[in-house]
Amino acid sequence: MLSVTGVEKSYKDIRALRGVDLHVSAGSIVSLLGRNGAGKSTLLSVIAGLIKADAGSVVVDGVDVLAHPRRATGLVGIAPQSTGIYPTLTVQENLEFFGELAGLKRVERRQRAIDIADQLGLSELLGRKGTALSGGEQRRLHTGCALVHRPKVLMLDEPTVGADVTTRVQLIDAVKQLAADGAAIIYTTHYLPEVEALDASIVIIDNGMVLASGSKAQLMASHRAIGLQFETAAPLSETDVQTLGITAVGTKKYQLPNENDVRGLVHLLGDRDVTVTAVETIQPDLESVFLSITGNLLAEAVQ
Ligand code: ATP
Repeated sequence: MLSVTGVEKSYKDIRALRGVDLHVSAGSIVSLLGRNGAGKSTLLSVIAGLIKADAGSVVVDGVDVLAHPRRATGLVGIAPQSTGIYPTLTVQENLEFFGELAGLKRVERRQRAIDIADQLGLSELLGRKGTALSGGEQRRLHTGCALVHRPKVLMLDEPTVGADVTTRVQLIDAVKQLAADGAAIIYTTHYLPEVEALDASIVIIDNGMVLASGSKAQLMASHRAIGLQFETAAPLSETDVQTLGITAVGTKKYQLPNENDVRGLVHLLGDRDVTVTAVETIQPDLESVFLSITGNLLAEAVQ
């Protein structure tokens, strides 16, 4: 359904995308993960035809959308990070307006507005203006506006930022339903439990390049990230933490990045006057896999 090949994009001297390949088939959800500034939003904007790539190709349902950006409008839906609803229009008017922009006829867009409001828990608010919606309601409407025309490729850029648990669950359910109905979906998030809730396949991007891709099970198998955590009787100095290449995960609790670094722990015991009070093996999870691939703390990527 979506084939992205060799896409490059620079903003003056910043190389935001350096030859990205990405393939999403109909009915599947790809979760695009990466630290702040990795290039995720730029990639989505290129696919949606909102910004022009310097090189590469984007084909949606057989249409080269870089060569024919206008034809992308009906095929692709995007809900960017910042909400883009019209505050003076009601929920229904917003949904219908975005349907009209994408070429839906009056009767169809009216029905779609009602269906989407139902799906996203906005039915009671159809007559309310954008200005009178809560942040979570605005975000749901913003997402609804991206999917009103039943796009073949739907891209959601951190759709659950600031959303409460109910909104989060509703959005996740709606996204799964859209995939079940045949849409190809790209979903960016910094919140890894969502990736598991969506049962999405994963693409990790960093510095404008795809570093790894596959199912959670495949990534876990190829990037095993068993780590060791240990506790000390007294906190270590900043210098010791840096020298040993460990990460402080508590006031007296530290993590070695992977099991091979157990030698670091031995050095610590041998060379320094430090009492270790507990040692624990950390089994790999999606977060540790992400850390091992990007080599950085996920916490830095979380807003
Ligand atoms: P985040 O998780 O913070 O949303 P991201 O992965 O979506 O980040 P992008 O917004 O695509 O990252 O940014 C990729 C790189 O391009 C970053 O270095 C960013 O500073 C830069 N960049 C993005 N938009 C512009 C712009 N309009 N002008 C100049 N540089 C930009």
